[in-house]
Amino acid sequence: MVEANKEILRVDSERLKGWFEELSEIGATTQGGVSRRALTEADLAGRNWFKVKIRSCGLELWEDSALNIGAKYSSLGASGPSVMTGSHLDSVENGGRLDGALGVLAGLECLTRLKELEVQLKRPIEAVSFTDEEGRFGGMMGSQALCGKLSAGYVERAKDVDGVALSDVLRSIGVNPEGLYTAKRSSDSIHRFLELHIEQGPVLGKEEINIGVVESIVGLFNWRVRYVGQANHSGTTPMHMRADAFKGLVCFASAVDEILKNHGTPSSVSNIGKVELLPGAANVVPGQAEFTFEVRDSCGATLNLLADKLADAATDIARRLSLQIQIDSMAEIAPEQCDGDTISIVESAAADLGVTSKRMVSGAAHDTQNMIALAPSAMVFVPSRGGFSHCPEEATSWKDICNGANVLLNAIYRLAC
Ligand SMILES: [Zn+2]
Repeated sequence: MVEANKEILRVDSERLKGWFEELSEIGATTQGGVSRRALTEADLAGRNWFKVKIRSCGLELWEDSALNIGAKYSSLGASGPSVMTGSHLDSVENGGRLDGALGVLAGLECLTRLKELEVQLKRPIEAVSFTDEEGRFGGMMGSQALCGKLSAGYVERAKDVDGVALSDVLRSIGVNPEGLYTAKRSSDSIHRFLELHIEQGPVLGKEEINIGVVESIVGLFNWRVRYVGQANHSGTTPMHMRADAFKGLVCFASAVDEILKNHGTPSSVSNIGKVELLPGAANVVPGQAEFTFEVRDSCGATLNLLADKLADAATDIARRLSLQIQIDSMAEIAPEQCDGDTISIVESAAADLGVTSKRMVSGAAHDTQNMIALAPSAMVFVPSRGGFSHCPEEATSWKDICNGANVLLNAIYRLAC
């Protein structure tokens, strides 16, 4: 039996590697990545795999009405709110093997390891996999539901980029869509939340630092913008007599950089995602141009200002080109600060393990961002080789993965003692 707070613990690296290889086969793509978009067949298979693993590790299994899946371990005498860790098993289309999966598998390994070492803990510990972190349906559904942050009407409105309705998908697998609104955990059931994740950027690798300790997570807003003009014969309609919806898109896209430069911060970023032109023929002037658009920054006031300036610019362009415009807000996530005490515990766990760490801002959204509303939270990053993520090239050396898992293990251990 291990005496609390006296020892540096280490994960079972071989077991973790074995799980990682098994899970990577589920939804594997020919390019070496995975496609496990939320609630697709591959994601459902990944979720089942996780449930079987939880049971085979002798841990308690739970699943809530937002389809979040968790493992729980209470050592003898443990009671009260849990120390929770976790991330997500879903991926983007043809994404990497590590994004999300690392935090879930390492969480499961931490619980399993603490159980087999018969470590005495004061608090229960939980490892969770959140549903749809990658936002197939427009948000971070699982962690938002668990934190009671799903906006009214979300479930009824939510569709993926192909127009598939979330409520239809849920019903097709025997789940009541309304249940998503009742998945909220009480804040007194969670003591702390800690997520291990790949950095998804180049900083740790470039600076040769083992561990990133996240201080804050950027916020974002995500719009669907539609310019509507008049479809017409492109051979017979003179250029000056057109209401070309695509021109609206082009003018907006080329105005964005300047608006970010003038009203944003050096860390403000934006991106245009899916673009659709209708009717979509070379001999027809585009009557409609629809696109998705996202902006991120670590400052809430900056995000608000950028949203105002960008909406003004989009509307001015429509007026100038005789187009109509519609802007639908698909998602809005506020930037969040991580918990100072938890950050210190992560830093001291890293130092005791002899690995280097630095504090940083997360430019990507994560489930932790929602969990902050329920419990003091923090994140641990490990380097992403070449900074690649959301693609099959996403990779982290096994040594870096073990460093991250060991930091997570020791931090959880200290938080739960
Ligand atoms: Zn992720």
